[in-house]
Amino acid sequence: MKIQTEQSVQWFEKINEKIQANKEYLTELDQAIGDSDHGINMARGFQETVNKLTGQDYETVSDVMKDAAMTLISKVGGASGPLFGTAFLKFSMAVKGKEPVDYDALTNGLEEGLQGVMGRGKATTGEKTMVDVWSSVVAYLKQGEGSFETDRLSETAKKAMEQTKGMMATKGRAAYFKEKSIGHIDPGSVSSFYVFDALAEVLKEAEQ
Ligand code: ADP
Ligand code: MG
Repeated sequence: MKIQTEQSVQWFEKINEKIQANKEYLTELDQAIGDSDHGINMARGFQETVNKLTGQDYETVSDVMKDAAMTLISKVGGASGPLFGTAFLKFSMAVKGKEPVDYDALTNGLEEGLQGVMGRGKATTGEKTMVDVWSSVVAYLKQGEGSFETDRLSETAKKAMEQTKGMMATKGRAAYFKEKSIGHIDPGSVSSFYVFDALAEVLKEAEQ
């Protein structure tokens, strides 16, 4: 498994496709336990990211990730832009000089990204946020000891996303809903599932 600049750009293209296709759904989820802007935030952020990456001649995955991160941080108003942006910025820093990105570099990059989100959001697992999905994926990759299945990567993210439904939110806007947040899937966890589902697809295609 290796991620080169081409795959890293494809990753963002695929995330963007999924976000655009599910923009209304993400907004509906945020309507239940937030302020109805998650679909709009993500759709704008990832479209701007793809616009930024398209047609550029990148030399490193780290540079791609850095541009994506800075775009998300600067173009998205809600909490999610800086949170996803921080994740990709930490990833960019972690893989610098370790290219092409192999299994260990990917695992380390995502773990650094997770730590970045946790630090910025002051959040931990079980608080009904995107952290739940990112941490499950990192845990899956860490126990793989050098190999993993792309389908399992995607399934792991999906399961973690679904599990946020039963949780009570204690971070972000959803925390204001207290017990009423239970029974709704966390919007940022759904976006995070798209991030990892897109990654699984890119890696699957690269294997062929
Ligand atoms: P906002 O909350 O500013 O309206 P969005 O609606 O775009 O921003 O994003 C909300 C999502 O961001 C949540 O579903 C959750 O996954 C994530 N999130 C919000 N606050 C935090 C936090 N403190 N730590 C981690 N993730 C968070
Ligand atoms: Mg919102």
